[in-house]
Amino acid sequence: MRIKLAILSFFITSLSFSQTIKSPEEFLGYKIGTQFSRHADVVAYFKHVAENSEWVTYTEYGKTNERRPLTYAIVTTPQNQNNIENIRLNQLKNAGVESGSASPDKAIVWLSYNVHGNEASSTEASMVTLYELITNKKEWLENTVVIIDPCINPDGRDRYANWYNKVKATPYDTNPDAEEHNEPWPGGRANHYLFDLNRDWAWATQVETRQRLKVYNSWMPHIHVDFHEQGINEPYYFAPAAEPFHSIITPFQRDFQTLIGKNHAKYFDQNGWLFFTRERFDLLYPSYGDTYPTYTGSMGMTYEQAGGGSAGLGIKKSDGSILTLVDRVAHHFTTGISTVEMASANIEKLNTEFAKYFSAANVKYKNFTLSGEKDHLQALINLLDVHGIQYTFSESGKSTGYNYTTGKQETLTYDEAINISTNQPKGKLVHVLFEPEAALSTPLTYDITAWSLPYAYGLNAVANTKPATGGTFKSKMPMLNTLSKTAPGYLSKWNSMTDAKFLSALLQAAIKVRFSEREFVIDDITYSAGTLIITRSDNNALENFDDVLIQIANKFNRTLTPASTSFASSGPDFGSPYVKLINKPRIAVFTGEQTSSLSYGATWQFFEQQLEYPITSIAVSEADRVNWSDYDVLVMPNGRYKLSENTLSQLKSWVRTGGNLIAVDGALKLFADTEDFNLKTVQLESPKGKDSITSKLIPYADREMDSSKSLISGSIFKTDVDSTHPLAFGYENTYYSLKIGDDAYSLLDEGYNVAYLNDNPQSTSGFAGNEALNKLKNSLIFGVEPIGRGTITYMVDDPLFRAFWENGKLFFANALFINNPNNYRK
Ligand SMILES: [Zn+2]
Repeated sequence: MRIKLAILSFFITSLSFSQTIKSPEEFLGYKIGTQFSRHADVVAYFKHVAENSEWVTYTEYGKTNERRPLTYAIVTTPQNQNNIENIRLNQLKNAGVESGSASPDKAIVWLSYNVHGNEASSTEASMVTLYELITNKKEWLENTVVIIDPCINPDGRDRYANWYNKVKATPYDTNPDAEEHNEPWPGGRANHYLFDLNRDWAWATQVETRQRLKVYNSWMPHIHVDFHEQGINEPYYFAPAAEPFHSIITPFQRDFQTLIGKNHAKYFDQNGWLFFTRERFDLLYPSYGDTYPTYTGSMGMTYEQAGGGSAGLGIKKSDGSILTLVDRVAHHFTTGISTVEMASANIEKLNTEFAKYFSAANVKYKNFTLSGEKDHLQALINLLDVHGIQYTFSESGKSTGYNYTTGKQETLTYDEAINISTNQPKGKLVHVLFEPEAALSTPLTYDITAWSLPYAYGLNAVANTKPATGGTFKSKMPMLNTLSKTAPGYLSKWNSMTDAKFLSALLQAAIKVRFSEREFVIDDITYSAGTLIITRSDNNALENFDDVLIQIANKFNRTLTPASTSFASSGPDFGSPYVKLINKPRIAVFTGEQTSSLSYGATWQFFEQQLEYPITSIAVSEADRVNWSDYDVLVMPNGRYKLSENTLSQLKSWVRTGGNLIAVDGALKLFADTEDFNLKTVQLESPKGKDSITSKLIPYADREMDSSKSLISGSIFKTDVDSTHPLAFGYENTYYSLKIGDDAYSLLDEGYNVAYLNDNPQSTSGFAGNEALNKLKNSLIFGVEPIGRGTITYMVDDPLFRAFWENGKLFFANALFINNPNNYRK
C-alpha cells in the first residue's frame, strides 16, 4: 500500500511544476504500471518531453533488426545542455581518450533499461524517472548529466508487451496458471535473432550492441546501471556485487558500489522493501552491462527487481502476496533516482578516481602480440575498432613472452603481427579480453569463466610483461584480381570464415566450385587440402563467368590464382576423383519448442548475417509434414528434443538415402546410446567405498562448493584435430574449443573422430572440476558418422555459441559445404 501512495504523491507534486510537459500518465492516458506500454508509445513520450523541455535532448542512435528506433535522452540543466559538447569532451580527456587537459566538474550517469525484453518494468520506470528528474530533482542536474536509454532491446520488449496485451485477462488474473503468466517460445528476453544482449557487450555481434557502443564510448560515463528482473519470489538486488570480482576492479569501484547500495538501502528500509546484495550477481565475464562498463572505468551495476516474463500486471507469489507491475516500477524508479543522487553528491571523488583508473595501468601484461591467418587478424581488428582499442602492425619480427599455445615463456617469430598495448586508455579492457586466464576467487560464477581472444580467433599469441617497441600502423589494402581468360581454372584458399562467405556467394551466383581432398602442386605453388578450385569446364555454360567470379572475389577481398594448367605436378589434377564438386545445399534448420532459442537464434543469425546463405527454418512441431527429400542438410541446434516416432524414422531414412544431418550439443542426446547410431555417452561410475561415505557426509554448508567438482562453466580446451578430414579442412592439428558444459561422448567406434580430447584433458583457460575432467578423457568434440549414403555430424561443443568464437565457425561451414556425404562414396 505504501508503494502506491509513494507513486501517487510524486505524480501530484509533479503536476504543479509544469504546465506544458505532461507526466507519463497524462501523456499515455493510464497510470504507469497499470498497462505495458508499447515501445512506440515510450518513444513518443520521450519525444514529447524533449520537445517541451530545455532540460532534455532526445536522439535516435540506430535501428533494430525489426526497424524500431534505438534512442537516448540527455537530461541536465539548460545551461549544461548549451555546453554539452565540452562536458562530453572533458569526460573523454579525463579518461585520456581525447588529448588535452581536463577540468571535470560533472558526473555522467548512464541508465540502461530493459536489455531483457520481458523484464519489462524498467522501461516503464524510465519514463517516470525522466519526469521526476526534470521536475523534482532539478538541483542534482546542475552538476550531473543523466543519459537515459529507455529500452536497449525494443524488439524483445515489444514481443513481450504485444503478447501480454493480447492474452491478458481484464482485470488481470493473478493466478500463475493463467496464460498471461506463461510466455510461449522463445519469450521476449532476447533480441530479434534471439541473442541475449546482456552477453554481447564485449563481442558486439548484434546491431543493437554495435550502435550503442558508438554512443556509449563517445561518453564513457562514471556510472552505468543495467536494469533487470529476476524470479517473482526474489527480493530486490542491487550493488555491491557478488564474488568473483575480476582482479582488475579497483578498490574505489568496490567502495563506491557499497556507498550507492547503502543509499538504496535507506529508501528500501523506509518503505519496508526487502533486498539483498553481494550474492549471485558477480563481476567477471566481460560481456555484461555491468562488467563491460566496469572494465572501461565506470561503476557498472546490475539492479534486479522481482518480475520477468511470468509476472504480468500482477501475480500471486509463493507467500500468497501479489507482486504488481506498479510495485516493480516503484522499486526501479527508486534505485535509479538514488543512483543519480549519489553521483551528484560525489562529483569530485568520481572524477579523480575515474582519472586514476586510466592512469594506473597496473597490470601484469604490458603487450599482446598476435600473428596468424590474415582473415583472423582482420576479424579481430574489426572488433578492436568497435571498442576504440588501439593497436599497431609489425612486419616480420619476434616477441617473447607467455605463449598461448605451449603455456611456456617462448619467442614468437612472425612475418606480420599486431601489437596491442595495455598502456592506452582501454588498457584494462585489453588485459581482461586478452589475458590467458582470468583469476577466479570462486568457481561458482554466473557465466563462462574463459573467453581469451587469441583462442577465440585462432591466432598465435604471446603475452609480454614488457612493452613492445616499434611498429607502425598499416591500413588494409584492398585486394584486386584480374581476368585470365585462358586459365583452365582459378584457385582460392580455404581457411577462414571470409572464405566461407565467398563460397556462399559463389554458389548463390550459380558458379560451380570444387575442393581438393588432397594437397596438390600447380605452377610450383603448393595448395592445401580444402583449396577451392573453380574450373572453366564446370562453368562453361555461364555467361561472363570470369567477370562474375572476379567481381565476387574482389568484393570479399579474396586472392584468386589463375592456374596455367589443370595438370598437377604433384597430387590430384582438376579432374581427379579427389577433387569434389560442392553442391549448393538446400538447408533446413529446426526451430521452435524443443530447440534452445539461444542456439537456434545463433544459427539463424550465422546464416543470415554472417554466411549470408538462405535457410528454411522449420518448427519441430511441423516436422511430421515435411518432405525431407526437399533438403540436403538439416541442422538441429542445441535443444531438448522429443521427436515423434514418425519424424525420427523419416529422418533416419532421409540420412540413409544421402541426407547430411548436423546435430549440435543437446541434440546429440536424441541419437546417443540408441541402436542405429554409434554415439555413446560417457558414464562415470559413482564413487565407491570410502569415497561414497565421504560424499554422504559433506556438510550442508559445503554442498554448493562441492558441486563444483563436476562443473565446467565455460572453459577453453585444447583439442587434437584430424586435419586430413574434410570437416577440419582449413585447420591445423590443434583447435581450442569453448566447452560450456560437462556432457561427454566416447570416441566413435565407427566413423571419424575429427576433433577430440586426449587421455589427459586440461582446461587451458577457465574453471573445470576434477570429476568433469575425468569424464572428458578421450571424448569427442566433433565427429562424423556415415550412415547408409548419408552422414550425421556430431558437434558436442556449439561453435556458434554467442557468435563470438570466431575460429569455430569454419567447422560449421565445413559441415555444410565440404563434408558432403558424397565424399564417403567410393
Ligand atoms: Zn535480465
